[in-house]
Amino acid sequence: MTIQTAQALDYEVVIGLEVHAQMATASKAFCSDSAAFGANPNRHVSPVSLGHPGTLPFINKKHVEFAVKLGLATNCQIRKHNFFDRKNYFYADLPKGYQITQDAAAICYDGFIRIKTASGQKNIRLNRIHMEEDAGKSIHNLDDENTLIDLNRAGVPLLEIVSEPDLRSGEEAHVFLSEIRKLVRFLGICDGNMEEGSLRCDANISVRKKGETEYGTRCEVKNLNSIKNVQKAIEFEAERQIGLLEQGKKIEQNTLNFDADSGETSVLRSKEMANDYRYFPEPDLPPLVLSDAYIAEIKKSLPALPEELYEKYTTNLGLSDYEASVITADQDLVLYFEELINETANYKAAAHWLMGSIKSYLNNHAVFIGDFWVKPKTVAEIIAMIDDGKISHTAATQQLFPELINHPEKTAVKTASALNLFIDQSVEKLDLLIDQVLQLHPQKVSEYKKGKKGIIGMFMGEVMKLSKGKIDPKTANRVLAEKLEK
Ligand code: ADP
Ligand code: MG
Repeated sequence: MTIQTAQALDYEVVIGLEVHAQMATASKAFCSDSAAFGANPNRHVSPVSLGHPGTLPFINKKHVEFAVKLGLATNCQIRKHNFFDRKNYFYADLPKGYQITQDAAAICYDGFIRIKTASGQKNIRLNRIHMEEDAGKSIHNLDDENTLIDLNRAGVPLLEIVSEPDLRSGEEAHVFLSEIRKLVRFLGICDGNMEEGSLRCDANISVRKKGETEYGTRCEVKNLNSIKNVQKAIEFEAERQIGLLEQGKKIEQNTLNFDADSGETSVLRSKEMANDYRYFPEPDLPPLVLSDAYIAEIKKSLPALPEELYEKYTTNLGLSDYEASVITADQDLVLYFEELINETANYKAAAHWLMGSIKSYLNNHAVFIGDFWVKPKTVAEIIAMIDDGKISHTAATQQLFPELINHPEKTAVKTASALNLFIDQSVEKLDLLIDQVLQLHPQKVSEYKKGKKGIIGMFMGEVMKLSKGKIDPKTANRVLAEKLEK
């Protein structure tokens, strides 16, 4: 809708995202309280996270390590001399009265994330990634008269990822966020669960006439809790702004809320109501200095990342863009696939098995690939038997694979033999079979000879049926063609 309206009226939509990722550390950012999600309210608290006077914060090693990991994975520069800042504001779920963050100098800066959309690939620049702590949670809808406060989340470590305004549509924002979610999951630093709030997104949106060099006035939509809603909010908001400009009105720089039910944005607060956070350097934490050796060590520890794997799968293994993007979307699929291609050189077949028979079984039975009990080695054995012409693909998918799912302890070869699936290699039998089929259909044979070559498929079907899938389709096809051409 928006894109059409925008295009029709020659507008360009400009979007910058601010993404908060909750780190999967055991403890909070500046004290040893558990950072786990889902405990009963106010169980993961201590004098430090409650902001009692006289307590002191200390830096969480993992928080720093995770920041550097994400920075390296997103092509950022890593700052070696770091310090923290206080962001002051008064709110019931912020017991200290300030949040510890990095304002002036972020630990990671000047990076980019590559996105691929239907119109090609594009780098979205990252302004920064900085470390900070989360606030607690105010619960307004449980008690009629009171707001309830849960401070389990107060002090949980976050990374805030801030993009430059390089995104140009809701779709691009969708892809960009999906990339971030994939990356944090591959790195094992955040579970990427938007519904539970482990990944949250604020979207800054403006519009301008195409060809204009200045950006328009932006609005910021807060707290979007699913990737789909980010896209919807952007599309609604862009359309709203274009509508206003077309009426000759001005855009006011407001902070907006998005209602997922109505799909509409509404004003949360205006610019005049904006806080003055009075940032200043956090005096209770020492400077954090990172050595080159430390950064190099983290770089060495990074797993293979989706983009690099995608490159390898499309360029070296000959997979299609689609196959490569499906497999690299999920690290557990990647792990299975990598094991599989260690056992077989038929990469195409490996991808087909993984995305076909295996995935459909997993989907139908709600099984995670990481828990799948048929081992890559067994699948590689099946592929080898097909490639050697020992069993047909049909017999493999319809009989052998289901049997191995029920009996994963057996080898593929023994099971194929027990099920009597091996292709009959004798040429005489194949000859007889084909002759039988041709004799049954003299009419069709003459049609073929008159030029209706497509009929060969029908013959093949009959031959395979009669052989109960126990002949090699390639040989059968060749012999069949030879006989028909005679
Ligand atoms: P602030 O200092 O007010 O937080 P920033 O310059 O840090 O503003 O930008 C915050 C976010 O808003 C960034 O993601 C940035 O890309 C985005 N942004 C800035 N200007 C615009 C604009 N005119 N339209 C859309 N997004 C913008
Ligand atoms: Mg900013």
